[in-house]
Amino acid sequence: MTLPFTLLIDPVPADSTRTNFDDTFHAIDSNAPALRVAELSTQRGDGIFETLSVVNGHPQEVEPHISRLINSARICDLPVPHPGQWRAAIALAVSQLPADGELALKFVLSRGVEAGPAPTAWLHATRASNFEAVREHGVKVVTLDRGYPRGVAERAPWLLMGAKTLSYAINMAALREAKRRGADDTIFLTTDGYVMEGPTSSVIIRSGGVYVTPAPSGAILHGTTQQSVFEYLEAQGERTEYRDVTLAELREADAAWLVSSVRLAVSVTELDGTPIPVDAELTRAINAALLARTA
Ligand code: PLP
Repeated sequence: MTLPFTLLIDPVPADSTRTNFDDTFHAIDSNAPALRVAELSTQRGDGIFETLSVVNGHPQEVEPHISRLINSARICDLPVPHPGQWRAAIALAVSQLPADGELALKFVLSRGVEAGPAPTAWLHATRASNFEAVREHGVKVVTLDRGYPRGVAERAPWLLMGAKTLSYAINMAALREAKRRGADDTIFLTTDGYVMEGPTSSVIIRSGGVYVTPAPSGAILHGTTQQSVFEYLEAQGERTEYRDVTLAELREADAAWLVSSVRLAVSVTELDGTPIPVDAELTRAINAALLARTA
């Protein structure tokens, strides 16, 4: 099967006792029209998604991605996905895809068609961009105000912070703003000066020899890559910690990374115009370990 590859999915309820989902999957021509105009995913960005990486035929971190999809569905009051159906959809896609190189596999659950009874869902696989240079050389980062104080997710759950919704227009606008400021990427801050995450990545810093990431409260995503990186570091005997990170601490970090499923770990080389220390050797080791995962 050639790329891109697209599979339409008829979502089944989470409590379905089915074990075979073959008749709920329909492979389609990726260039063919597939969504109706009244789709709420396109009309309102009202849906959720995940993007996982497939490396040399191995889908990465399937269970954490499915768990996060389920968590996003709960936050958004969407019908809870059936984990077995999504596992089967990913397995079917992977069985049809080229078994070499790095692929990005995006799966989407939308509220469906306006006035329609059912959610819509699909999976779309493409070859990943070539991130070798950025993994080797890192990114310049500016910090940007996310516009909310710490604790907002608990006070205002309707903001859907902590859900991976399709409404990424703000995230993309922040990346454009970073580029306007001469940087490659950005780290969001709360209005009271705490580190959150990047628009498409989690933040890890090394501070006093400990690897720290902001606690995945309701306001940021719990990154699947960040969890893999922590597992790798712990296996090397390193200390890891989830806690609040202030902007001052980020500025003084021994090293900092942005980590995400497809780009993997990239060093932050500059923060708001000031160079910060880079651990190129560790970054290479982390990426080698991430690329060697078979699950
Ligand atoms: N935070 C945000 C807002 C993201 O969009 C992403 C990934 O796209 C991440 C964090 C990193 O998550 P993961 O490592 O699971 O890709």
